[in-house]
Amino acid sequence: MEEIHETGKHYYNNLTEKQKYIAKEMFFLADLNGDESLSISEYVNFLGDMGFKSCNNKSFFAKLDKNGDGMLDFDEFLSLYYLYCSDKLVFCDGRGCGAFLKGTYFTCIDCFNNESNTFNLCSFCFYSWNYDCHKHTTLLDNSSLLRYMKERANRRSSYASNKSSIVDTRGDYSSSEKTEVEIQMEVEIGDVAALCSGCSIM
Ligand SMILES: [Zn+2]
Ligand SMILES: [Zn+2]
Repeated sequence: MEEIHETGKHYYNNLTEKQKYIAKEMFFLADLNGDESLSISEYVNFLGDMGFKSCNNKSFFAKLDKNGDGMLDFDEFLSLYYLYCSDKLVFCDGRGCGAFLKGTYFTCIDCFNNESNTFNLCSFCFYSWNYDCHKHTTLLDNSSLLRYMKERANRRSSYASNKSSIVDTRGDYSSSEKTEVEIQMEVEIGDVAALCSGCSIM
């Protein structure tokens, strides 16, 4: 968390004055009694109102509470604000886990591309199959995901530029959608999928 606290501060310092104002407004909105710090109940209520489920609890509050005084001052709140704004409030969907995913974790590609909610697993839950059978089978870790997105973007732009001059030499584009990374990962988790096919939850 130390790194996140540091990044949160730098993130805020680099905001425009208007964006800083918005961050402060958000803090003051949560600070119901106006004592310039958030108690656990103010924190839980505020995040509940915002629709967050995974981080409005005591254990995540404690992670944010850098000096451990049981309150979040504005500086400590900035870590949350940074995570929120950069879409990094990600938690493990493994069975009974809910761990905050700040290092390497695995993301379902289909959910990532097509669903409103992503499906993510910490390394432990991924490798120990600690999750109820998921409807998709391709999960990539963070670095593979970045490679996948890059390949996808490259393929799309080359497809778009070739489209006007080539009649159709590529066959069915959707059937060639899978990247090398996806195929490699599918092979790796093929056993998990086979196990899931007999699962009553699916
Ligand atoms: Zn999925
Ligand atoms: Zn987990």
